[in-house]
Amino acid sequence: MAKTAGIIPSWVRTLDVMIAVGAVIKVQCDICRVDREVDLPALRAKMGGSYSLLNRRCRCRLTSGCKGWNRFLYSRGVFRTLAEPHVQDRWLRQSMAETLGAIRRNSEAKSQESLQPPVNRVKTPKSSNQ
Ligand SMILES: [Zn+2]
Repeated sequence: MAKTAGIIPSWVRTLDVMIAVGAVIKVQCDICRVDREVDLPALRAKMGGSYSLLNRRCRCRLTSGCKGWNRFLYSRGVFRTLAEPHVQDRWLRQSMAETLGAIRRNSEAKSQESLQPPVNRVKTPKSSNQ
């Protein structure tokens, strides 16, 4: 038995099977928290019935300008993430790296500012002016 067999149900693996069982799939952003039900037949028309939403995410398409990640959730009483634990771990590590990168860039930008010589607003007196 596969390690994740008990965690992710087999009916979430392709669009065809999700549609056949009447699955309710939601997409949600981890930053703006907007969520929306996925139109599975429309997605199948675009991507084909063997397409899988398992372990997928994309940059936020729910809120213009949002830099969050859109992730998919399936409903089984409550909504659960449509990603296997090792993928969730990888996404978490990437998010932490992105956040640390942003903090680092921010603090580097600040230290660059402090390295700039102060603007010399004091005009040197002109001694030759008599
Ligand atoms: Zn968003």
